[in-house]
Amino acid sequence: MEVVEKIKKRVYTFGNKKAEGNSKMKNLLGGKGANLAEMSAIGIPVPPGFTITTEVCTEYNALGKGIVLANIKKEVEKAVLSVEKIMKAKFGDSENPLLLSVRSGARVSMPGMMDTVLNLGLNDKVVAGLAKKTNNERFAWDSYRRFVQMYGGVVLGMKPKSKTDIDPFEEIIENLKEKRGIQLDTEFTVQDLKDLVFDFKKAVYHRLGKEFPSNPWDQLWMAIIAVFDSWNGKRAIYYRNMHGYPADWGTAVNVQAMVFGNMGLNSGTGVCFTRDAGTGEDVFNGEYLINAQGEDVVAGVRTPQQVTKLGSQRWADLAQVTEKLRINNYPSLEELMPEIFDELNEYQQLLEEHYKDMQDMEFTIQEGKLWILQTRNGKRTGAAMVKIAIDLIKEGLISEEEALLRIDPNKLDELLHPVFDPNALKDAHIIAQGLPASPGAATGQIVFFADEVAKYKNSILVRIETSPEDLEGMNLAKGILTARGGMTSHAAVVARGIGKCCVSGAGALKIDYKDRSMFVDGKEYHEGDWISLNGSTGNIIDGKVATKEPELTGEFGDIMELADKFATMKVRTNADTPKDASIAKNFGAEGIGLTRTEHMFFEVDRIKAMREMILADTVKGRKLALAKLLPMQREDFEGIFKAMQGLPVTIRLLDPPLHEFVPHQLATLKELADEMHISLDSVKVKVSELEEFNPMLGHRGCRLGTTYPEITEMQTRAIIEAALNLKKEGIEAKPEIMIPLVGTFDEFVFQENVIRETAETVFEERQDKIDFSVGTMIEVPRATLIADKIAERADFFSFGTNDLTQMTYGYSRDDAGKFLPDYLEKGILKNDPFEVLDQEGVGQLVHIGITRGRSTKPNLKVGICGEHGGEPSSVAFCYNNGMDYVSCSPYRVPIARVASAQAALKATLN
Ligand code: ADP
Ligand code: MG
Ligand code: MG
Repeated sequence: MEVVEKIKKRVYTFGNKKAEGNSKMKNLLGGKGANLAEMSAIGIPVPPGFTITTEVCTEYNALGKGIVLANIKKEVEKAVLSVEKIMKAKFGDSENPLLLSVRSGARVSMPGMMDTVLNLGLNDKVVAGLAKKTNNERFAWDSYRRFVQMYGGVVLGMKPKSKTDIDPFEEIIENLKEKRGIQLDTEFTVQDLKDLVFDFKKAVYHRLGKEFPSNPWDQLWMAIIAVFDSWNGKRAIYYRNMHGYPADWGTAVNVQAMVFGNMGLNSGTGVCFTRDAGTGEDVFNGEYLINAQGEDVVAGVRTPQQVTKLGSQRWADLAQVTEKLRINNYPSLEELMPEIFDELNEYQQLLEEHYKDMQDMEFTIQEGKLWILQTRNGKRTGAAMVKIAIDLIKEGLISEEEALLRIDPNKLDELLHPVFDPNALKDAHIIAQGLPASPGAATGQIVFFADEVAKYKNSILVRIETSPEDLEGMNLAKGILTARGGMTSHAAVVARGIGKCCVSGAGALKIDYKDRSMFVDGKEYHEGDWISLNGSTGNIIDGKVATKEPELTGEFGDIMELADKFATMKVRTNADTPKDASIAKNFGAEGIGLTRTEHMFFEVDRIKAMREMILADTVKGRKLALAKLLPMQREDFEGIFKAMQGLPVTIRLLDPPLHEFVPHQLATLKELADEMHISLDSVKVKVSELEEFNPMLGHRGCRLGTTYPEITEMQTRAIIEAALNLKKEGIEAKPEIMIPLVGTFDEFVFQENVIRETAETVFEERQDKIDFSVGTMIEVPRATLIADKIAERADFFSFGTNDLTQMTYGYSRDDAGKFLPDYLEKGILKNDPFEVLDQEGVGQLVHIGITRGRSTKPNLKVGICGEHGGEPSSVAFCYNNGMDYVSCSPYRVPIARVASAQAALKATLN
């Protein structure tokens, strides 16, 4: 009951150049509602209406329908009255009817994930009144059949029963079209539309056993509840989880006077973008349909026409593409309705300047009058995000700080994916042409259903058109191909939002879901066949096409420069090979935070010597085998030092349990026995001795170096010799030797002594010296607690948060996969703690470790080298706890650099 008492106002009105809300009230009014209010207040023509707040959604989820409807009744009735006054029409009236739309809208935009109902307020009497009032019977019945169809789907649940089923209403439409021998909705006669309404209602009665509701107020209350319910629909929940939005945000409901794009040839509807959402280029663009209502454009049922004539090379290319496709994409709105276009052009400029960001707008033209129905910061690809941010600085609209804070670091990942190799493209066989809806390169095997994308490692989802239900599959697919839909279709918008390569509107494809096949270019393709998509040109290519590493130049480079300007915490990389090290260095890594030496032992010629070492019975035998490994390891280190050119390199001594290095198949065991001239049985005994019940908590890390100090000795020698060799060549090397898995002070001291003594010996031998440091990985909870003691001897700490998370939670990383998904689904854990650092628990240990370590040694160098080092929220945590650097995999380095800069900027704002 508490919720109820706290809420003072549940409904906010807008319209007639006034509004009770504004764009800052997104949490309360949802993004759509807040922006409708703002637009209305700044004088943009928005149909009047009102927003029921997100608080009411939360209230509904807590208290149920009855109480909530009672709570909003008076306010809604009053708000409807004010809309009636502005529109000079009456809701439910059969002489002069007002129709409403009921639209969802959460605080962040979730395109198509929730529901909307248009043309609400119609019934058999009202439709007659509407026909008479507008003197347009066809329009009235077209609106009515759309209403029954949408309301039936959204509120009454008239949806396909299975995935190969078609929509029950679409089936009725298709049947009628076939019977009448027509193709387009616009070809229906008034009688056809009347028949459709009749048949739709019959289908509702047949399936649900009850009549379609005819009372407009009943329709309204039920639609409001249905929109609230759509917040907890399957699609919305998936989308929320994907982006980490909490369930208690809720959606607002926007109720708004209808304006009609379906009143004839001087009416229409469209979607437009103030810049190119694919590339970021500053070109106004969009699509529209004549004589249609909003949902027709996004649903991709008819391929729409362009809003602008040609703006740029990319759009000129696009024009050629669409001409080739012989889709009737022209005339553009600019040519067909120049005055409307000018007005729209004015609003798009105004809105972009007002919001200081690229806008995605919806508009409707009713008998020559323009209405704006929505504006929001447009979804865009990673490339567009970067270009727009930099351009907006240049245009003086936003500051460098603002631009940097707007970058979603994770989206930079898209720019780091491979692109088609131009040489391979020359020989590519193009089987069809579609629209370049979302740039990128994708090669994969065809699947026709979103829930089957996981069948192959690389899938291309091929659909006639996509629907919001397909989101999960679209996200998993390498690329998306649709036969219908334009550049603003659902598939295109969603694909750009998630940075997925997408080609839409490839009309030449004949897709047969039942047969799981598609026919194109004289050939039948089946599920599992390979194709490639070029999302930048719209080309669909037979088979696989080779790819290459991307180059990071232009605006991407500018963003990185900006990041460096504001970042104080450094970014290093985790790299085990010279190749990884130099990739990371090109991405701006300022050193190596973790080189794992064990990977070097797995290569063919090395694993043998390694196994000899492991199976040797005596120190002497082990030293002999280690001597074989020494030169190889030294060479590895030389390569890595060279790649890093004097930047610091942290090398971790051998860490994994030894049984990971021995074979387990009989044949290999036999080979090994022969090579070592010992019996198969004794090899078997040795190998089984190495087995452990819980190797993750077993004989590994510095525990190995304690039992076998000769391993530490050999590795130290390899590191020091490598550095000395390079010194002779005039290349500086800065090794930082890191002891893994330390839990007690004496463990550290024992290893440190071995390291320092070995180094001294090598310095003696060579009569030369280099600087090096000895530190430890902090990954056992106990180490964080005695960090003040360890810091007496350690030169640096590097938090190994993978193991630290494992041991703090008591989750074995090897087995957590069995239950973590359940924990996430049930909301017991908000994130996978191995991906996003658990600040509440593990974070406390990190904090204690740093504070205690620095209480002994104020300048103690501290970093992180777990997977978390490349995850933006964890990077911010590291910054806030005073770390000197984060270290992450090479491809995450640019992401971590931006995250580090953002953390520094946010700290100055607070
Ligand atoms: P979504 O969030 O899925 O885009 P919307 O609520 O924006 O859903 O509505 C879907 C479509 O219906 C859009 O094209 C929108 O422009 C159109 N629409 C919504 N309300 C009205 C209205 N009052 N008059 C005319 N068209 C509308
Ligand atoms: Mg919309
Ligand atoms: Mg570890």
